[in-house]
Amino acid sequence: MRLPDILGQDDALRILDAEIRSGTMSHAYLLWGPRGSGRTLVARRLALAAGCSLKDQAPPESPLWYCGECANCAKIVSGVHPDVSVIVPSGNTIKIAQIREMQWRISLKANESELKTWLIDDADQMTEEAQNCLLKVLEEPPGRSLIILVAQDPQMMLPTIASRCHSIRLGTVDMGAMAEWAGSRLSLSPERARFLAALSGGLPGRLVSLASDHDYFELRGSIISKVRSVMWCGDGALALDASEGLLDELKKAHARAQDADGQGEAASREALEIATPTGACDCMAGWFRDLFVLSLTGDDELVINRDYMKALEEDAARGSPALFGRWTIRVMQTARALDANANARLAMDDLMLCLALAR
Ligand SMILES: [Zn+2]
Repeated sequence: MRLPDILGQDDALRILDAEIRSGTMSHAYLLWGPRGSGRTLVARRLALAAGCSLKDQAPPESPLWYCGECANCAKIVSGVHPDVSVIVPSGNTIKIAQIREMQWRISLKANESELKTWLIDDADQMTEEAQNCLLKVLEEPPGRSLIILVAQDPQMMLPTIASRCHSIRLGTVDMGAMAEWAGSRLSLSPERARFLAALSGGLPGRLVSLASDHDYFELRGSIISKVRSVMWCGDGALALDASEGLLDELKKAHARAQDADGQGEAASREALEIATPTGACDCMAGWFRDLFVLSLTGDDELVINRDYMKALEEDAARGSPALFGRWTIRVMQTARALDANANARLAMDDLMLCLALAR
């Protein structure tokens, strides 16, 4: 039994592999980077490579090798190994009760393997109490244990946690390699694979979600069309209408995506994310960024929203790189304000008016 292959992240795999082979593994790792970069997959692979009964026979040049056939490998891949536990947020956070249970169980002897492994996914969602509890475990780690934290941003955690882990950053993946991988793995045309690789920003996990996400593309189309109707229109009332209409549409789309989630359908994270004012701003920022690049260089290859090439070329011809640069910064400021709990209606009104009355 095998996990899906990991795309990119060669440096991280090499570092971890060298420590397993030399017997110098740390008792705790923090694998951090953007969602979709493959961080959870790397964490599971680390648990496998460290837990495989045949790891001493790992062929050279096969980073984080595992046999895939021994009982440990089979159970870890299928998620039923008694000595490998996974903690994920319960609701929106990882609670102290979850870490207390781990604190108690990690001190017990391993059942079937030499190592007790804990994978804490979305570790930056731990409450402060949970983090303090984990800190105690990290301060006096029991023998033969491996704790793997997966997080987006270590700055969301107590600095003492990161400092007690071997911290490894996972970055984005080369677009060309991603397009090639997506073409063969998801049977996409080369053009579609290149488009999705660019749209997903070098994050393979995001590409896989986007490839089958109809709701995301529908809402994205609607956001782009609203923004285009407002740009340079010179009509403040129309801009305010578009702002209200957009927020209303986002609210409905978000409720739909959450409903799907509640009914056990695989809710798309991408559809959920774009259906928020901040997500819509990110989408607009991508649009203005394309206009900036296109008006500056005229190079189609640098465009992200390639499925709208004709519209982008029309819009790019009407403005200057300086204006599109200003809009990109402006919409990113709006996104930051929204993240800091600014009033969504006021922030969106202000943004739309700025686009409508631009010169
Ligand atoms: Zn094995």
